[in-house]
Amino acid sequence: MDPTRIELHHHDVDGRGPPTFDWPITAGYCRVIAAAFGVPLYFSWRSLETTEGSLATVGGRSNPGTRLHFPQVTGDLRLRWCSSVAKIDVMRSMICNSPRFLGKRTLVVTGERAEESPARARYATFEPHRIDTRSGTRGRRHVDHWRPIHGLEEGQVWNLLRRYGVVPHVAYQLGFGHVSCMHCIFASPNQLATIRWMAPKRFETIAEYERHFGCTVKRDAPIHAVADRGGPYPAALARPDLVELALSEHWSPAIRTSPERWRLPAGAFGDATGPG
Ligand code: SF4
Repeated sequence: MDPTRIELHHHDVDGRGPPTFDWPITAGYCRVIAAAFGVPLYFSWRSLETTEGSLATVGGRSNPGTRLHFPQVTGDLRLRWCSSVAKIDVMRSMICNSPRFLGKRTLVVTGERAEESPARARYATFEPHRIDTRSGTRGRRHVDHWRPIHGLEEGQVWNLLRRYGVVPHVAYQLGFGHVSCMHCIFASPNQLATIRWMAPKRFETIAEYERHFGCTVKRDAPIHAVADRGGPYPAALARPDLVELALSEHWSPAIRTSPERWRLPAGAFGDATGPG
């Protein structure tokens, strides 16, 4: 397929504000991936980058909500509101507010896998997207949603990266088995211990929110106590250069390599907590 007919979209969880939840390097990783494959890249949060290069703001109130609670650690997206507010609704708003999708056929491609959770196992591999209006009387948009790796096992996904020589996100190389938000509410004790060791100030920001809200991310303990139950990944302890890369905004190493030189990252088949 002509790469110019493909767009890469990244939902910027921190919305260009101070780094709080997401990996600082993730936007930079997306940029080099898009450049390597020759596809345009758009970022979106409560604002959207348009094809004309401007910013559009969609949805929400002018004053931010102040419920002072973390999203709940549950598969229920109504209570785990971060996934919908920071990702799913952002994609929906982007398509609904872009006239260029009207009268066109669009395929939204995402990477959920059934193996990741019982909730994800129930997702369809192919279905009309929730904002599809192909049967409407006006403003028709034909939008389908395809999850091409839904039925793949983890090893098959790594084999795809090896085949195309794609260097995995640095968090996998540091030992994380699942790359989601850096401070994902589902983070395991080992993940939290690693983040606390790597970025103590960032970690303390979340701990301070817990004290301020009078409510912890995990139901049973503050994040410091959860981190105390685990330990930093050896791969992270051994590679200060990768830690520096993970906490930077620009991806400087090569993003493609040959299948022969490609290496399975330390986090593969490991601690894969979190829905992404
Ligand atoms: S990765 Fe974790 S914290 Fe981020 S949106 Fe998903 S569930 Fe929420």
